[in-house]
Amino acid sequence: MSSLFEIPIHKLKGVGKSRAELFVKLGVKSVGDLIRYYPRAYEDWSKPVSIADAQNGEVCCIRATVASPVTEGYTKNGKYFVRFTAYDETSAIKITFFNNRFISDKIKRDEQYYFYGKITKDNFGIQMISPTLTHVSNAQTVHPIYNLTAGMSNKIIEGCVRQALSMLPDVIKDPLPEFIRQEYSLCDLRFALQNIHQPNSAEDVKKARHRLVFEELLILNLGLRNLKNKRRSETAVKVTKSYSDEFEKLLPFKLTNAQRRAITDCINDVMNKKTSMNRLVQGDVGSGKTAVAASVCYTMAKNGYQCAFMVPTEILATQHYNSFCELFKNCNINISLLTGSATATEKRRIRQSLASGETDIVIGTHALITEDTEFKNLGIAITDEQHRFGVAQRGALLGKGENPHLLVMSATPIPRTLGLIIYGDLDISIIDELPPGRKAVATYLIDAGKRHRAYSFIKNELKKGNCCYIICPLVEEGELPLAAAEEYAAELMLDEFSDYPVGLLHGKMKSKDKESVMQKFADGEISLLVATTVVEVGVDVKNATVIMIENAERFGLSQLHQLRGRVGRGQEQSYCILLSDSKSEDTLKRLSVMCRTNSGFEIADEDLKLRGPGDFFGSRQHGLPTLSIADLSDMQSVAVSQQAAEEIIRISPDLSDERLKGIRAEIRRLMSKAGENTLN
Ligand code: ADP
Ligand code: MG
Repeated sequence: MSSLFEIPIHKLKGVGKSRAELFVKLGVKSVGDLIRYYPRAYEDWSKPVSIADAQNGEVCCIRATVASPVTEGYTKNGKYFVRFTAYDETSAIKITFFNNRFISDKIKRDEQYYFYGKITKDNFGIQMISPTLTHVSNAQTVHPIYNLTAGMSNKIIEGCVRQALSMLPDVIKDPLPEFIRQEYSLCDLRFALQNIHQPNSAEDVKKARHRLVFEELLILNLGLRNLKNKRRSETAVKVTKSYSDEFEKLLPFKLTNAQRRAITDCINDVMNKKTSMNRLVQGDVGSGKTAVAASVCYTMAKNGYQCAFMVPTEILATQHYNSFCELFKNCNINISLLTGSATATEKRRIRQSLASGETDIVIGTHALITEDTEFKNLGIAITDEQHRFGVAQRGALLGKGENPHLLVMSATPIPRTLGLIIYGDLDISIIDELPPGRKAVATYLIDAGKRHRAYSFIKNELKKGNCCYIICPLVEEGELPLAAAEEYAAELMLDEFSDYPVGLLHGKMKSKDKESVMQKFADGEISLLVATTVVEVGVDVKNATVIMIENAERFGLSQLHQLRGRVGRGQEQSYCILLSDSKSEDTLKRLSVMCRTNSGFEIADEDLKLRGPGDFFGSRQHGLPTLSIADLSDMQSVAVSQQAAEEIIRISPDLSDERLKGIRAEIRRLMSKAGENTLN
């Protein structure tokens, strides 16, 4: 099996250059990948419905005999169609195909077929439009449905998969050792692969699926444990003295008790534990996590260690950099900023200063984990807004030192079971208190009819000298061209807000431009910022008092909460205006949660209840490798895989047992999808 991953997909018959490119779009580069490209769903044709029983709107399979000769013609709009009548014991049905010139040769009068499609029942009788069909003599009754991309059909994939399966060697090495397969009653790999793609019955799909899900979760589990186990060994980073009191004197404000507790937890970890710190600091937006990170950096730097602070966006990196520079200006601490947009010369200079130990604290983006970044003595790795980073990226940053300490900061409350997977065995400190004097952000849900009242409201705030955000989801979503956001900003600039300086910020802008817009906004040179969700993560502008969010229904609650966190960061009353024209009761109910509460934890709970756990795992946020078949919200399977993983670790803690060779290879494959090799 493993050798099939070495055979590029274009080696299959019928796969040329352009088709191979489509396959790559689907994540399929090799024949092995294709075999591991499992169907998304199945159509079960084994139990056809009688035509009389089929419901209007139902997608189902009927078994019917072709009655009439096939007629062809053109619709009023010039579309070519083929139509015929078919019947079973209960009734007759009209079947129509559009723009399909091959169908009339395929269909034979008086022969029996399975037709699978959507039923319409109306005044014109019973109909099916463009069903999939097969002759009754064709035994396969469960049909796989694959995720497609434009230009790729299910038929093409089915055909290629058939070829790929035929290339499997007679005996395939099964990564799951015999004893695990027996204990958990799992079918072997050969059966699983054959039946996940070309099953004979729904029962067989179930067996195959069960095994493949088990395998994938087990591999993920073991892979993540392996990352953690690396961290179990003694740390070389010895911290002897705490400087947190000294740090507090540098601040323009008093720390909250919750901030102080979090700092104490961290300092305890780095001073008193033999192994390195593994801590998550979780605190709602605006709770002051940055000060906690700064305090820990201060102690580390004063003890002679370097600190790396990795954040997801350049804007945020720059902002943290500026505030660290301000805070530590008289402390004899060297701070650097390393982002992808720095010039090559700048980057080289900063990397040199990291390697020589001249830089004490570096703040940056993913640029920190590229291969050519080296540290002299990295003592701590900090990641901000961790939900944007993957386990692998975290690991890569840690790999820059000799078992350095790890501090992860997150504003996203995650349900416990899911947290176990994402954060593994991190210790947790919670900042459950906001800095004093904060007023809850007043939140309103309005429809477009009130847009102009909202504009007037915003103008009022601008008159007072405050700044405001208008968020439109257009650019990042890729649904509307960039021009739409630009046009919208221009419109506001020329028309509604012509008396005020309006700026535009979106993800596709050059970093330098982004930075300069953000800086102008922070300085008050721009007072109204039209932005996409790039401002979602952590940006801090004190006198921003209104955030208006267009098409609010397109955002998840947790994301809205993050966005709302951009205002209400100072003493003034702030406002969040959610604009939505949705008529759906569910949507409005969901959005109204925002008006009811300002608590991130409550909002995450509601998100979980209303939308299921998908959001916590959707959109790559967790950075775990993409799974081909398992679903992390399937808690039952996750639990079973955890049990099996523990059993395996008991037998062979470092997975060196000969029987685990296949598992080791699979871990490498899965983790490399997430960007890191964990076992060598
Ligand atoms: P987050 O937890 O969302 O990262 P930040 O660290 O950005 O929050 O802090 C939000 C704002 O609150 C910042 O402007 C920061 O200077 C301020 N702040 C943090 N801690 C305190 C405090 N104890 N008292 C007053 N203001 C604080
Ligand atoms: Mg923050």
